[in-house]
This record gives sequence, C-alpha cells and structure tokens, in this order.
Amino acid sequence: QEEQARFVLRNPRSRALWERARAHMPAGVPMPWMTRYPGPFPLFLSRAWGARVQDVDGHTYLDFALGDTGAMTGHSPEAVVGELQAQLAQGLTAMLPTEDGIKVAEELHRRFGLPFWQFTLSATDANRTALRIARALTGRPKVLVFHGCYHGTVDEAFVALEGGVPRSRRGNLGPPVDPLLTTKVVEWNDLEAVEEALAPGDVAALLTEPALTNVGIVHPAPGFLEGLRALTRRYGTLLILDETHTLSAGPGGCTRRFGLDPDIVTLGKALASGVPLGAYGLSREVAEAYAERMAGPHADTAGVGGTLAANPFSLRAARLTLERVLTEEAFARMEALAVRFQEGVESVIRGRGLPWHVTRLGARVEYLFRPTPARNGSQALEGQDPLLDPLIHLYLLNRGVLLTPFHNMALISPATTEEMVDRHTELFAEAAGVIAEA
Ligand code: PLP
Repeated sequence: QEEQARFVLRNPRSRALWERARAHMPAGVPMPWMTRYPGPFPLFLSRAWGARVQDVDGHTYLDFALGDTGAMTGHSPEAVVGELQAQLAQGLTAMLPTEDGIKVAEELHRRFGLPFWQFTLSATDANRTALRIARALTGRPKVLVFHGCYHGTVDEAFVALEGGVPRSRRGNLGPPVDPLLTTKVVEWNDLEAVEEALAPGDVAALLTEPALTNVGIVHPAPGFLEGLRALTRRYGTLLILDETHTLSAGPGGCTRRFGLDPDIVTLGKALASGVPLGAYGLSREVAEAYAERMAGPHADTAGVGGTLAANPFSLRAARLTLERVLTEEAFARMEALAVRFQEGVESVIRGRGLPWHVTRLGARVEYLFRPTPARNGSQALEGQDPLLDPLIHLYLLNRGVLLTPFHNMALISPATTEEMVDRHTELFAEAAGVIAEA
C-alpha cells in the first residue's frame, strides 16, 4: 500500500491525463493491456529513447520492459531513425513493392534458413496468416497449441486447457466459433500428448514458441523440440515456430541457435525497431504450394495480406534494424549483459537463502518467487505470486526501473548498459531485504 501511495504522489500528471482519457477511451487507455502496467493508473510517457523512458511528471525510468519486446532494439535507435527520415519523404505506403523487402527477405533467409518471406502489419497477422496457409495446404481443419501459449489475438490459438478440453481464453470477446472445432491444446513438454493429438490426422499445424515466454519463460526439456519436429513430420502436420519473442535468443532466434527446422517461422515486434511489421517465413516446399495459389487470379481474395502491410516505411525500418541494430555483435553484448543481470539477481537470492529462482533465454531474463522452474503452462500459471509479483514491479517503478508488466521479466537491448543492470541488482537486493524481513 505504501508503494502504491508513493506512485500516486509521484505521478500526478499521469493521473490527471488518465482521468481525462477515461472520458473518451475505455479504461482510459488507447489499448486495453496498457492497464496492466503496475500502479493504479498507467504512466503517460513524454518520450522514450535508448533503454530509457520518461513520464509526463518528469521521471526517467530504466526500461527493461522495452514495449514487451517491441523495442528490443532500444527506443528509436539512431542508426535506424536517422535514415528513416529520408524514407518519410519518399513515400509511406503505395501497395507496390520496394527493394528493401528483398533485402529483408534475404537477410531473414540467412538467419532463419527459410528461403521465402512475406510481410504483415503485426505478429498477430503473421500467425493468423500462417494458420490459414497451413489449413489451405493440408486440407485439415485444426491447430495444435500449448496451454499457456500466446500468439496474439488469433482466436484459434487464444485458448487454454480447461478440464482437459480446449476453451477460449477467459475474457476472449466474442470468439466466432467454439475452439473445439478449431483447436487442440496440450501441455508443453508432453510429447505423448502431442502424439495423441496429432495421430487422428486432422491437425494442419502445430503452432508454438520454441520456449514459452508468455507465462514467464518455460524452456523445452532436452529432446522436446526435436520430438515436435519428428511427430509433425510423421503425421503430416506443419510446424510453425513463433519467434516473435524468442528472437531474444539470438540473430536467428531459437531456430538458428538450436538448429531447428520448421516449416514456417513468424516474427514481429522488434523486427522494425517498433515500426509495425510482422513477417512469415516459409520453407521451399510450403512456399511453392503457396505461390501456386497466390500467383493466380485469386491472390486478392485469398484472405491474406493488407493495404498497409509490407509498406515501404516498415520495410526500410526492418532493413536498417537487421543491418545495423540487431546484429550478431549486438546480440553477443546483449546476452553478456543478460548473464550479468541473471548473476546479480542470483547472488541476492543465494545470499539471503530465498526460495526463488532466475531463468534466461538469450537477452531475456526472468525471476520467479518460487524455488524451481516451471515445466509447463499449468505449473507456470500456478507459480505466479499474486502478492510479490505486483509488489516488485511497483517497488522498482517508484525507484526508476520498469520491468515487463506481465511478468518479472527484463529484456536487454543494445542500448542497455552495465550500470543499468547493476542499478536493477541494487534495487532488487533492497526489495529482497524488505520482503525477507516482512
Ligand atoms: N507472438 C508472441 C509469441 C507474442 O508474445 C505476441 C505478443 O505478445 C504476439 C505473437 C503478438 O504480437 P502483436 O501483438 O505485436 O501482434
């Protein structure tokens, strides 16, 4: 309560804007999840740059949330925005292709191994499209996803396992059909359940992240990802890897890091430094079958694509991001800082003998107020701490550090520094002291 009161006192301008906003925007925010930021009302920002954001009350925060991965490049990286100025004057949207799209596709091929790429406005769109392609090419109706997954607001994948059956996620507004018709859901790390779901031969695609990141980080057990590949091949199901978040594992995401061989990869968020862009990459076999359909007279009635998708501005931003910001060297530095972050938190936990742990995927780190890592979505959801999770966010926020609002998760960008990481460790140590003594 003390932390909450401090937030209210420190942020009167944010509070005033929020009250004004509530007259014209449901819940006082332009996008519903913005209400999930810690505190009784969201911070209203005046600017964001590098790994920092500033609110309208003049406070600066070290930003480890980075727009829930949208700004994994750091905010407005100079190497991108400097040159984007030129593109601003050269056209923002035309529904005709530009050379940047080819350069982005070539680079994504080099990184992910998939030779063919197309672009959307968001990762959600990329996933929605990937599922359509999978259904079209296999002639099968269903998708298999994991409990605890998140792939955007795609109804077929916006589901949970409840009492052993797939149900639309609680709160999902108006899904058009019962997910029993579209979706199967099993627990992560359970290859037997995957096989049981695939065996009837009605599953077009298995859609998954290579590690779950939306219920905290849940790593694959040894052999699990290889098992998914073998089983999807055996039962004629396409394997779609959603690397929107797991791009934090390296320049080619987990696909390259773990030598995976998916049929389709989907991307978004940080790909264009936060300029809206999603992408899907296709294996040669999938691309050839897809191209056959898209080359005919029905390309514009295939239910794929969008007027602003693949616009020249987003693609210029993506090209510059890949060439200059999310480079091999940048990932090496980001990962070293993430290790520093992890070790700092671990030393505090060990020093106080607390039953907590830390986990990491490349440049993404998370700490949990439970002793062991979760093995699947159910364990991850049960392991969330309704008291300590919000408390740590508010404690840090009041002292100028922003974590990813949905989890105790920190993302490192090329603009993050050792000093920023060490400041977090210092505050985490302080908070751990307060909690341990309470
Ligand atoms: N895929 C994953 C793994 C995500 O975590 C998210 C969003 O959090 C999405 C897709 C959807 O991204 P967007 O909301 O930018 O469309």
